[in-house]
Amino acid sequence: MNVVGVDVGATKIAAGVISPEGKVLGSARYPTAKTPEKLLSGIVRAVSDARDGFAVEGVCVAVPGLLLSQDSMVVYSPNLHAIEGIRLKDELEPKIKLPLTIENDNSAAAWGEFRFGAGRGTNHLVFVGLGTGIGGGIVIHGQLLRGAQGAGGELGHVTIQAAGPRCACGNRGCLEAFASGTAIGRRAREVAGERPNSVLGRLAAEREVLGEDVTRLAREGDEVALAVLKEVGRWLGIGLAGFVNVFNPEVVVVGGGAMGDGELMLESAREEIQVRARPPGRDLVEVKEATLGPDSGVIGAAALAKDHSGAYLL
Ligand SMILES: [Zn+2]
Repeated sequence: MNVVGVDVGATKIAAGVISPEGKVLGSARYPTAKTPEKLLSGIVRAVSDARDGFAVEGVCVAVPGLLLSQDSMVVYSPNLHAIEGIRLKDELEPKIKLPLTIENDNSAAAWGEFRFGAGRGTNHLVFVGLGTGIGGGIVIHGQLLRGAQGAGGELGHVTIQAAGPRCACGNRGCLEAFASGTAIGRRAREVAGERPNSVLGRLAAEREVLGEDVTRLAREGDEVALAVLKEVGRWLGIGLAGFVNVFNPEVVVVGGGAMGDGELMLESAREEIQVRARPPGRDLVEVKEATLGPDSGVIGAAALAKDHSGAYLL
């Protein structure tokens, strides 16, 4: 039977009907409203539009931010404050009228890659999502690691340099402050200042340089942009090496919109893992790009939908 996966992002709500094979059968998208009431009605509408004409057994809504599972409540969501403090299951389930599961968005992306993507066939997977920030999800012994309250798996907020740049979370030197899309942009602006005659430097004289500029220039073969991505890839690898030591995963899957020229970053990340992680884990682990692409959010969420007894529906 089919289920609905919903990916609530800072700018859009995407809902999709997903078949037992992980295929998207129908979908709907709405812009994310910034007030709690409109946000909730947007989710309900997206589910209703997506499922129109399909037999569906359950729904999972994947939400950004730190989750308190027992209350199905996001306690902190830096890019979507409107979702904070709402008992999502209590509010939404009576309106959706299907068994409803609430999960963290990066946990859902991890689960989607584990079931249907780059981690298919493994039992131990670490997922890192590079976007504006860095999200994480961990599958161990075929189960999603949630921690005592549901807020576990925040791999972006591991400190990798005590006195490093300020992170969006308030801490200093988090992995997110070194290897997210935001960090790529920041490092590029520094480099542009140091090398005013480079393409990046000339671009910076016209307007603010962003992470995506670096990716684009790197694709065109610009040496300075390539060097920035390699450097960011090394920081990513420093974080990943720690995760390899801690979780001993078979596969580390890296996804998210800021991946850009993924292989280039992953190459330097793999080199750091070889230097910093310990055998036998470093010899086993494969570092791969995520394969579910733009549908990863809805597919991952759908794969976590449960029935009233708590059993997964897909
Ligand atoms: Zn942080």
